[in-house]
Amino acid sequence: MVSETSEKRLSIGIIGGGIGGVAFAVALSREPGLDVHLFEAAAQFSEIGAGVSFGPNAVRAIQLLGLEASYRRIADSSPAPFEDVWFEWRRGSDDGYLTASLAPGVGQSSVHRADFLQAIVAHLPEGIARFSKRCVEVTQDGEHATAHFADGTTFSADILIGYDGIKSAVRANVLPAEEYGEIAPFWSGTYAYRGMIPTAQLEEALEARGADRRLALVPQMYLGHDRHILTFPVKQSELINVVAFITDRSTANPQLPDGEEWVQAVTQEEMREVFEGWGGASQAILDCIAEPTRWALHELPELPRYHRDRVLIVGDAAHALVPHQGAGAGQALEDAQVLASLLNDEACDRQNAQRALAAFEEVRHARTCRVQRTSHEAGNVYEYAGEGIGDDEAKLIENLETRFEWLWNHDPQDDVVAARRVLGWERASSA
Ligand code: FAD
Repeated sequence: MVSETSEKRLSIGIIGGGIGGVAFAVALSREPGLDVHLFEAAAQFSEIGAGVSFGPNAVRAIQLLGLEASYRRIADSSPAPFEDVWFEWRRGSDDGYLTASLAPGVGQSSVHRADFLQAIVAHLPEGIARFSKRCVEVTQDGEHATAHFADGTTFSADILIGYDGIKSAVRANVLPAEEYGEIAPFWSGTYAYRGMIPTAQLEEALEARGADRRLALVPQMYLGHDRHILTFPVKQSELINVVAFITDRSTANPQLPDGEEWVQAVTQEEMREVFEGWGGASQAILDCIAEPTRWALHELPELPRYHRDRVLIVGDAAHALVPHQGAGAGQALEDAQVLASLLNDEACDRQNAQRALAAFEEVRHARTCRVQRTSHEAGNVYEYAGEGIGDDEAKLIENLETRFEWLWNHDPQDDVVAARRVLGWERASSA
């Protein structure tokens, strides 16, 4: 299977159709000069039924990707008069209010994952996506990059983009083990218990436990030693998304027991034991999750490179991180916006596309590594293990009020401008 490249200026293969890969394919599909193909391992596009929250930078990327109207139709925000609140921070032990992180104009912007994927898939023209195509290896030569699939077929294009998530198969071509050693995701030491609660049920449970019912709809974080719980609304406030975390900090390199699955169904009792002695609001939340799942949160080390010749990795394939800043999908969307702007530019063709991939890496690498690093640190801060902060509430409050500003106050369009400068395309038409 070789792409029909003759009449187009560039052919592009995308491996992986998660939130990042689909948003990227939609952005490329609007440019008639490109030949775009997306390959997804699953039999159809699919996402789990959990919530995903976006900071102002990610909402900006969604706008620039032309997906704002679809997003707004399904997105939740913090209810008035808390519109600007990203999260309120509370002591887990007694629900005591510490402070709020404010994101003016955006607040907490969140969606149900499956709804969001469906909303962006609706923009993807017929014929671009192919399913049950699990990439097992990528090779490249002077002319093409080739994806090899588990079903024995291959696909070649001018460039291949790996949007295939934390267990990426494309990554090995960019960072061959002979040169870089085995690069594998590692367990962060944190388990996340996840569940969804009908809002009315949580409001009643909060009241029954003597807590304020408004804690259901206003996004909350409950903090404690090596543990924290977060809640925010999704599905037009019908449901409350819950994630409850516990971290093993007893060793520098915590290991998952051999053969343990990353995601498991566990009992409510196990989850409740972890938060024994916590305040009424936390107890109310956990009361309502009868069948939690437990996720062993993995992340990638900061990678030395994302690009080699005709192949680039992006999204979680390049910079998978722990979810403590709600930033992973946002980075995948920023990547999509920046890369699509470069490839959609008429100045980009099969002769110089490799330089465009190199310029993308040059402008994105430091930021995405910093998001990985600070996401891990954020988990420490929330769980009273932040360096120089610990459980000192005054320091905690100061940190939580300001620590997200650099992340949120970023315009992906600035990365596009910077990459164009690297490429000498300042005067080229904009995407
Ligand atoms: P993925 O979503 O992992 O998609 C990869 C796609 O590639 C999948 O469709 C997969 O089937 C396909 N695929 C995989 N391997 C192959 C292959 N070999 N061949 C072909 N196809 C393949 N981020 C936020 O921004 N906000 C949040 O609130 C947030 N909360 C989170 C909470 C939890 C508990 C977790 C675990 C993560 C959270 N994240 C959040 C992070 C976010 O989920 C990821 O960063 C995001 O999904 C990455 O998108 P992606 O498209 O790069 O990869």
